[in-house]
Amino acid sequence: MSKIVRTISADASVVATAIDATEIVSRIEQIHKTSAVVTAALGRLSIAASLIGNGLKGDDESVTLRLNGDGQTGVLIAVADSNGNVKSYVSNPVVEIPLNQYGKLDVAGAVGKNGTLSVVKDLGLKEPYTGQVPIVSGEIAEDIASYFALSEQIPTVCGLGVLVNPDLTVKAAGGYLIQLLPFADEKCIDILEDNINKLPSVTEMLTSGLSEKDIAIKVLEGLAPEVLDETEAAYKCDCSKKRVERALISLGREELTAMAEEEEKIEVCCHFCNKKYAFTNEEILKLKNR
Ligand code: ZN
Repeated sequence: MSKIVRTISADASVVATAIDATEIVSRIEQIHKTSAVVTAALGRLSIAASLIGNGLKGDDESVTLRLNGDGQTGVLIAVADSNGNVKSYVSNPVVEIPLNQYGKLDVAGAVGKNGTLSVVKDLGLKEPYTGQVPIVSGEIAEDIASYFALSEQIPTVCGLGVLVNPDLTVKAAGGYLIQLLPFADEKCIDILEDNINKLPSVTEMLTSGLSEKDIAIKVLEGLAPEVLDETEAAYKCDCSKKRVERALISLGREELTAMAEEEEKIEVCCHFCNKKYAFTNEEILKLKNR
């Protein structure tokens, strides 16, 4: 389990959310068998989804982040519920490119600097809320901040980090999101800017022993922060045979007939968790008539 902690400044004008997502990103690496740079990319996007999802109000609400750049990873998708539980998917899990000029995993190089970040918030209404912004850096945290500034007019600071061990397991992963409410005053903004400038990277903070709560308090230092709530979150897929059936039905009668004729047993694999669902051709033919 990973934990998400939200803090709020004493004047209630700034909210910070932080997560130690080491366990979540470890699951991502195990499920998708990602190379180091893709673990970092998909990990960062999933951490962001988890933090944003945690800020949603209703139990049935969810957020989907879709990062579609012109790099070798192809499309990256992360879906989180309102607790911050997240599942994710990447078109190409294995990308091998050199480190960037700072000697770090080149996330922007793998994702691509041209393309879009789209955010779909399903708030249980008839139509989901959708926002889309161009990729500004490809390093993901800045892209998330840019989305909030442009699409939701919420001044936001986002920090995301994933540290991968030489054996490709995940050493540390986490992130924070700081959001200002419209009545935040200049003094508060100055303090925040100062905090951000002094702040070590997320993985530095985590490996030096800081917890998600310590980070959520540290980013609001000088603003008398208080803990608002703490939530547990995990990598969690909500697939089921029913859902897979619905996806199959949406393929259409022709496709299903062809499928049933070609194979005696059809196996469908969930993109998010690799769980396999087996169907006999009889079952497939039944779906055709639904
Ligand atoms: Zn699944």
